[in-house]
Amino acid sequence: MKIPGPISIKSDPGVNLLKRIRALMASEDGVQARLDNFVKVISAAMKVNVASIYLRAGNDLELCATKGLKQTAVHTTRLSMNEGLVGNVARRAKLLNLAEASEHPDFSFKEETGEQRFHSFLGVPLLRGGRNLGVLVVQGKRARIFSEAEVENLLTAATLLAEIAVEDERTGGAKARLEGIRLTPTGAERISGRGFADGLAQGRAVLHLPPVTAGHMIAGNTAEEQNRLSKAIRKMRRSVDAMVEGEMGGMSAPSKEIFESYRLFAYDKQWLDRLHEAVHSGLTAEAAVERVRNEHRARMLKARDPYLRARLHDLEDLANRMLRSLGGENLEPGQRQLPENAIVFARNLGPAEILDYDRDRLKGIVLEEGAATAHATIICRTLGIPLVGLADRVLDRVEADDEVLVDGEIGEISIRPTPQDINDFIVRVGIRTQLDLAFEKQKYLKAVTKDGKSISLLLNAGLLVDLPGLDVSGADGIGLFRTEFQFMVAQRMPHLNEQVDLYKRALAAAKHRPVTFRTLDLGGDKILPYADLVPEENPAIGWRAIRIGLSRPGMLRYQLRALLKAGAGQNLRIMFPMVATVSEFQEARGLLDKEVGRIKKLGGTLPEKLEVGVMLETPALAWQIDAICKYADFVSVGANDLLQFFFAADRDNPRVASLYDGLHPAALSLFSHIASRCNANKTHVTVCGEIAGKPLEAICLAALGFENLSMPVTGIGPVKSALLALDAGKLTDLLKPKITAASNAVTLRQTIKEFCAKEGVPV
Ligand code: PEP
Ligand code: MG
Repeated sequence: MKIPGPISIKSDPGVNLLKRIRALMASEDGVQARLDNFVKVISAAMKVNVASIYLRAGNDLELCATKGLKQTAVHTTRLSMNEGLVGNVARRAKLLNLAEASEHPDFSFKEETGEQRFHSFLGVPLLRGGRNLGVLVVQGKRARIFSEAEVENLLTAATLLAEIAVEDERTGGAKARLEGIRLTPTGAERISGRGFADGLAQGRAVLHLPPVTAGHMIAGNTAEEQNRLSKAIRKMRRSVDAMVEGEMGGMSAPSKEIFESYRLFAYDKQWLDRLHEAVHSGLTAEAAVERVRNEHRARMLKARDPYLRARLHDLEDLANRMLRSLGGENLEPGQRQLPENAIVFARNLGPAEILDYDRDRLKGIVLEEGAATAHATIICRTLGIPLVGLADRVLDRVEADDEVLVDGEIGEISIRPTPQDINDFIVRVGIRTQLDLAFEKQKYLKAVTKDGKSISLLLNAGLLVDLPGLDVSGADGIGLFRTEFQFMVAQRMPHLNEQVDLYKRALAAAKHRPVTFRTLDLGGDKILPYADLVPEENPAIGWRAIRIGLSRPGMLRYQLRALLKAGAGQNLRIMFPMVATVSEFQEARGLLDKEVGRIKKLGGTLPEKLEVGVMLETPALAWQIDAICKYADFVSVGANDLLQFFFAADRDNPRVASLYDGLHPAALSLFSHIASRCNANKTHVTVCGEIAGKPLEAICLAALGFENLSMPVTGIGPVKSALLALDAGKLTDLLKPKITAASNAVTLRQTIKEFCAKEGVPV
């Protein structure tokens, strides 16, 4: 498809207006003088009778500058967000263009302004990020609809005004603030979210996508900017096309569909027209993308319909890609620069985006969204980066470079903290350091309970960056190697040699400790960061994991070949995810046998020992344990998925999170059943969901008969501490009578906590 050229707007595209705004921006005037000049410039350049600026003052809108209304009304006239046409624009974050203002149902007028003489009305919101800072209005005596070009010019002026006003406010100093007007958040704020990855961090806010600064908003040469924009669009499209058409796209029909619909947005004419119009009106390409992104974001925050929100997210993602490429950034994954002690704020981040950041400087992450078992979260846990998610509207409450404290333990962040907040935080960091030292001391101890039960503590891994965690934590091996991560962070499907290389490195890092590789577990939320476009009604229980592997055996066999090659002459453990029936496992094992046969035929080297296991993630398989134990060499309980299917509660949905409780008697009873049947069949069994890394849950799993727990690196120290202090027999005695079918308790969490307090088990 051809990229649309500049939109032809007949009247002066506002070059004059922008020139004058540029001069105004360079002036050293105070804030009020700049606003006064701004409205004068607008009314002259647009040849309108009135130009006014209303800014947010608490929940109201205050008239802060006007040319054409009575000056006595400035800083006197205030409107609520529900009042009048100005309130309407602010509330909906959408422009209003009326020939006859008084005919609109929301029309009301303020006597003191003298505005009743005017008929036409054009109001545009002053947007910055998702925040609505106020409204810019022009009015005329003649009843007429404002032209497309005029609307465009006013939108452009509003983009600039929002940025100028914020910069004025932030620089403060000589440009004294407007009393009562607050455009940027100030003062200490504490925001409660959810602690998705443990840890404490103190640093400075970095916005994953910082706003374009006012100085870079007005184009020096519009034709050049059109070129830059066209180039950025082409680059963005190429990167989207590559995803669709690359080997990744060939993976499966549903994934391809997801990319295809994403691609539709990349070619959406309306969206691209909006961008070109914005540049045509005199903005730089960056400012144009930013303006359109702000509009989407403001609308997204208001959209209730999840489908619409997802679509707006997609557009935002594409805008983000373009901003990155305009900034000269390569769209290939790479190192994104960060200042020291950076706390990155974003709406959401995919696993690849996290890995793009400079690891040494990235100290914490705060997200407006995110989920406890999302894969970005799992990556933060493996890397030991504290992550607070579900931080409501945090992007509207933080500014770049604000001081921030992140508490991943309790899921709280402090922005612009008070000295008292900082002191309290330092005390907590001290306690945490003591704990880390204690974990370090016990690193070479085996996790043996007081009554002599030995528990093997293993690591969950998936990327090269996870591997040092083996030695850092003193883990007994890798209990779950999520092979799909390598696929998720790549731009195309990794070639055989790339796969072999990663698996070899994992085996080498383990130094003869066991490594259990799980075959590709794609689908569900594991497609790419924009997986919310999954066209299935219920992706978590749809076409995913082994189901994809069995219906697209070519790809699974390719991976099995890589695994066998990497494990030549060594012990190799492979397991299949999301198996629901014994026959699925047999079929998958059959594919592995074929690959083994192929190597034999070619005279290649086979692994010295090959063990093939199954992930128990579906309740159905829990009722076929005796059967599956006949065929599988080991069982690994994927508790993340198992619990979501058991309680019919989406693992990523905070609204149903309380249902998703591993310490519910029914869940503990299920775990007990699995452990006892596997033990009775003498089949090696591990728990590898996130609960295995939580001390309270982990001691229960040990008490119910699990001798192998696989967890994120940050779980090993705390779980080992708890196990070392545990009399497992006593806990078994406490739990067994409480987890029968007759139990009606909601959760045993409190009971177990009390047990730990009494027994001195640190949890
Ligand atoms: C699980 O479901 O518990 C599991 C370990 O797999 P994943 O979290 O990768 O779905
Ligand atoms: Mg799973």
